[in-house]
Amino acid sequence: MATTAAIPKYNLNDDQEKKLILREYRALLRGLKPKLKPGDKELLRHAFEMAADAHKTMRRKSGEPYILHPLAVARICVEEIGLGVRSTICALLHDTVEDTDITLEDIEREFGGEIARIVDGLTKISTVIDVNASQQAENFKKILLTLTDDPRVILIKLSDRLHNMRTLDSMKREKQLKIASETVYVYAPLAHRMGLYNIKTEMEDLAMKYLEPEAYREIARKLAETKRERSRYINEFIKPIKEKLDHTSFPFEIYGRPKSIHSIWNKMKKKAVAFEEVYDLFAIRVLLDVPQELEKEACWKVYSFITDEYTPAPERLRDWLSAPKSNGYEALHTTVMGPQGKWVEVQIRTKRMNEIAEKGLAAHWKYKEGATDESRFDKWFQQIREVLNDKDNDSIDFLQDFKTTFLAEEIYVYTPKGDVKMLPVNSTALDFAFAIHSMVGAQCIGAKVNHKLVPISHKLRSGDQVEIITSAKQKPNDGWLDIVVTAKAKSKIKDALKEEKRKVADEGKYTLQRKLEQSGAAFNQHNVDVLTVFYKLPSPLDLYYQISIKAIDLKELKEFQILGDKLEPPKPVKPVEHKVEVQTVKPSKDTELIIFGESSDKIVYTLANCCKPIPGDDVFGFVTTGKGLTIHRTNCPNATKLLSNYGHRIVKTKWAKNKEISFLTGLKIVGLDDVGVIHKITNLISGEMKININAMTIEAKEGLFHGNVKVYVHDKEELEELVDYLKKLPGIETVDRYDAEA
Ligand code: MN
Repeated sequence: MATTAAIPKYNLNDDQEKKLILREYRALLRGLKPKLKPGDKELLRHAFEMAADAHKTMRRKSGEPYILHPLAVARICVEEIGLGVRSTICALLHDTVEDTDITLEDIEREFGGEIARIVDGLTKISTVIDVNASQQAENFKKILLTLTDDPRVILIKLSDRLHNMRTLDSMKREKQLKIASETVYVYAPLAHRMGLYNIKTEMEDLAMKYLEPEAYREIARKLAETKRERSRYINEFIKPIKEKLDHTSFPFEIYGRPKSIHSIWNKMKKKAVAFEEVYDLFAIRVLLDVPQELEKEACWKVYSFITDEYTPAPERLRDWLSAPKSNGYEALHTTVMGPQGKWVEVQIRTKRMNEIAEKGLAAHWKYKEGATDESRFDKWFQQIREVLNDKDNDSIDFLQDFKTTFLAEEIYVYTPKGDVKMLPVNSTALDFAFAIHSMVGAQCIGAKVNHKLVPISHKLRSGDQVEIITSAKQKPNDGWLDIVVTAKAKSKIKDALKEEKRKVADEGKYTLQRKLEQSGAAFNQHNVDVLTVFYKLPSPLDLYYQISIKAIDLKELKEFQILGDKLEPPKPVKPVEHKVEVQTVKPSKDTELIIFGESSDKIVYTLANCCKPIPGDDVFGFVTTGKGLTIHRTNCPNATKLLSNYGHRIVKTKWAKNKEISFLTGLKIVGLDDVGVIHKITNLISGEMKININAMTIEAKEGLFHGNVKVYVHDKEELEELVDYLKKLPGIETVDRYDAEA
């Protein structure tokens, strides 16, 4: 090399490089040794040579020969996840199809279909990176389909990602940020879900190093500074326990383990405390080496040693011996008061449990005792496949939905017949209904959880027995989207809403046709387009819909010019044309207000039909031709359109106190049906609050009732007070205002 400055920090000569590569390869073989069967060594050698040859001219950004990367990925698969020979071959070849002349056919010919399929899956994942967000989500979806066919694809991909994170230093800053965020967003949760705690933790720490470099360095520095003090404390804590353990017959290890930088940082943020105030900077871990049949007994014995010595916090006891976590984790955790009155977390597990905690899914297969754990993962994969196969699923929402549905820990709930359904944490009765069938979901009006009646929004817990109550009259609404967490329920609700909107729009279309023809214009594409543009709506369907729900009343149609049968948008209206009796008010000045609602008021105004304001609502006035001022609520569906298009016709307004005029408004009340509920409601409204009821309908079915009450209130305050009181009545679930027709 001519200049020294250009030489990368990596600078070995060819011989040294060859030695390094071979050393790595031998280390890989050493890790696999216990698993090698006759013929495996030759296959591995073949894969290694094929990959080395294919990548021979390539170098990583650091300057290293490229083959060191697949070798490192293979070592992670073997040493940190515990995968076997076939996975190792796939790991060695994982970048060949993507980056070299080797084809899938070559791999299939040399190593067979199984390995070719896995490499194919891995190749598809690498193409996810570097495309736009929706494309990426779409690809991710396709890939997951492949992944679920063979979980080894995920495990090898996680090893690949981990090695890339470990060697992220040589990348450009922009790339570092992208890869690091993708890692926290998808890969670390995926690792957690697969039970790979160490890999998850390391990924999070590495990502934080690039995403939050200052916080990372600060915590790392403080951890280093306090290390001696910590080990002294740990030794003091361990000493009496160790003495007792020495008297038992089983081999053990006991040591202190610092928590990850990322988890310490999370705690600091969550509790808004400084590093010095995070009490559990480390955990004590006791590892026992006992036969599987003695595990439980031995762990509880250690628990009693510890709690004899130190006082436990009973609410912090976690027994994952009897009921392992859904990702397979088993252990006994407790938090005790250690020397100097400090709380210390102690984790008790056996070697087998430890291996499961570190190697996750792969270790499960090794210890396969009974079919339960395996079928648990199978069910998980089955559910992923179901959602992925749903073609209408919006791919941009998909990543988020995937995360909440599949990477969260899940609960197990039962049907009345005892079938078990697996759902993500925070699932509601409505999610469960959709999990059973989309029709059951769409018609769900409530549920019985452990024989007790609950609303559809009820959050389920593991072990619940759930019976869904349906009604043919029920229809999904927008609010349902906030109730459900599963991807399946979300997409089914969205479908139903779209369908519903289409139906409603059909009516609006008819209305529009009539009005256009009455005004002498034709119902044709041109005129519909003119109106759609005029109302700034994304499509004619939206126009029809807005007309149908009366958000657009088409009164402005009068202002349009009609040439032949063609509609032309109205000319801008000059504000002076209007003889609104508010000469003193200059609409442009914010300080001047129209006070209305007083009986002495001379101002002509009407309350908008679209949003039916009542005193106390946030409102604005809109100057209309001929009708004077129309008062709209600021959250009126038309408000944005009016405010943004007709700024010069907007008048700032305010309500005056008024106790003489009352306004009609409606309340929808939903609750559990119960004797006397109607009496309680009417008694509260007209008896206690002395509010006039205009009309009331109650529909009760299978334990739930829906009530519509129209009342005359004086202002918003009074209405809010009424709503508050109603909500406090026993059994009332929701009380919502709607705009009552007189
Ligand atoms: Mn790779």
